[in-house]
Amino acid sequence: IMYGCNNFCTYCIVPYVRGRERSRLPEDVLAEIRALVEEGYKDITLLGQNVNSYGKDLGLDMDFADLLEKIEAIPGDFLIRFMTSHPKDASQKLFEVMGKSRKIAPVFHLPVQAGNDRVLKAMNRVYTREEYLDKVRRLREQVPDIVLTSDIIVGFPGETEADFEESRAFLKKIGFLKVHVFPYSRRSGTPAYDFPGQIHERDKQERSRAMNAAAEAIRKEVLAGYEGMEDDVLLETPLSETLFTGYTRLYVPVVVSAPGHASGEIVRVRLGAY
Ligand code: SF4
Repeated sequence: IMYGCNNFCTYCIVPYVRGRERSRLPEDVLAEIRALVEEGYKDITLLGQNVNSYGKDLGLDMDFADLLEKIEAIPGDFLIRFMTSHPKDASQKLFEVMGKSRKIAPVFHLPVQAGNDRVLKAMNRVYTREEYLDKVRRLREQVPDIVLTSDIIVGFPGETEADFEESRAFLKKIGFLKVHVFPYSRRSGTPAYDFPGQIHERDKQERSRAMNAAAEAIRKEVLAGYEGMEDDVLLETPLSETLFTGYTRLYVPVVVSAPGHASGEIVRVRLGAY
């Protein structure tokens, strides 16, 4: 639904190679989704480097939350997902639209990148850990069963062991279902390339391993909380005549025994143990 990015995080090359934010016209997006739904698609993901900025460049008095409401009004039984969101642009209005929605999956991919204010500032993420926590609190008020996923960078220039530990503790505080951990990758042409305090590759790999282990432990805890829960699953890849992979509305990956069903169908399941 949009291309480019205006944010200039100090580690990221995207704004330089993809240019500034450009949104597709709402009528084009809506026509494409209407056609997909008529063809039978049931799970639609809106993509953009920063979907929460959708519409700012169009001058149409229409933002991302408005677009979601218009998509919701398209007749049909389908699920809407979106990514990626920048925390600074994730608005109260968006949370309220999600809270009222029957079609938007209650899943929010909200990259935090670090759980330490000094590192966040060096990254130019323009929010603090408290501001991020406040967004999550307000999101949970509107969508109590919201599932959070995130991205985090370890070994950013100048990140101390204490900073790293603060970020690791932050994952637990939020309780993310899934966190993609990236060891900092030095990109020429970005400000962070020249930052002092570059972390040795060996330490980045060690922090990456430790952060992944923490994320996996939290994932297990979150998934254990879903045991016994009922949810809808879109059947995807068949593993045999009766077994399928798929994701629930809450983005829990599952293997489903569904005799008599086919890929593309939605079935109701009760979640077993992870
Ligand atoms: Fe933009 Fe995301 Fe890159 Fe930041 S990390 S500059 S928000 S694309």
